Amino acid sequence: MIIEDEILVLKEVRYNDNDKILHTLSKNNGKIQVLSRGCRKNKSPLINISQIMAYSKCQLYAGRDMYILNSGELLDNFYNIRSNITAFLHGTYILELLNYISQENDVDGKAYDMTIRLFQILNFIEDNESKIANIISVYELKLISMLGYRPQIKECVLCGEKLNSKLSYFFNIKDGGIQCIRCIHNNNCVNINTGGYDISYKNIILLNNILMSKLDDESIINEIGDDMNLLIKKYLFYHIGKSDFTTLKLLNKADKGN
Ligand SMILES: [Zn+2]
Repeated sequence: MIIEDEILVLKEVRYNDNDKILHTLSKNNGKIQVLSRGCRKNKSPLINISQIMAYSKCQLYAGRDMYILNSGELLDNFYNIRSNITAFLHGTYILELLNYISQENDVDGKAYDMTIRLFQILNFIEDNESKIANIISVYELKLISMLGYRPQIKECVLCGEKLNSKLSYFFNIKDGGIQCIRCIHNNNCVNINTGGYDISYKNIILLNNILMSKLDDESIINEIGDDMNLLIKKYLFYHIGKSDFTTLKLLNKADKGN
C-alpha cells in the first residue's frame, strides 16, 4: 500500500552501500522509520529529501517492518540554518529531542505543524543566543503541554485557590503546577510533595502567556529570562524522563566559548 504524508527527517543512518534509514516525524502517522534506497548515489532523485532536517511531501510504501521511500518533493531543507551556528545547534537539539520523545509519546499533527513553524523561524533568525534560546523555551513548554503535561498555573494545585498577586508561590515540577505559600506552610501531610521552585507572580503570568501565544511573539520572547529557560527545561526533562541530549552538551560548550 502506498501512502502520502509529509515528513521531517530527525536522524539519518547509513545502511547497506547506498541506502539510508531515516528516522522521521510525519504529519499523519507520528514517528516512522523510512528506508531510502539508493539515496547515497549522486544521481538519486531521493538525495535531497533523505538528509537530516529535510521537510518533504512523500509517497511511502508501507512495508512489513518499515516504510520505503518511493518518491517525494522537497518542501524545505532550512538551508540557512547551517550558516547560523546558534540556530543550527538549537535546531539539531530539537531533532534529537523529538527523536527521543516520539518513541514514547504520540506526537500529533499539531505538534508536527508547530515543529515545522519553528524551523521556518530558525531559518531566518539572526544569530542571537538569548533570542533563539527563548523561542526554544516557548516551543518546549507548548510541546510538553501537547504531550499531556500542561502545567496548572491558574490556581494552586493543592488548595485550588485562584492565582492571587498578593501570595507567594512555588512551582512544583513533579505535580505540574503552582503551590501557594499557605499550603506549603500549613502542610502537615507527609504525602504531599512540596519540592518546588520559587516563582514570581510575573513569571506565572508569563508561563500562561507563553501557552497562549505564537512561537515568535516578540513581546513574550523579550520577557523570558534565564530563570524561565531553566525552569521550562527542568519541567520538560522531568516529564520526558531524559536530560542528557548530546546536542545540548555541544550547545553549552558553544555558550562558554570553548
Ligand atoms: Zn494552596
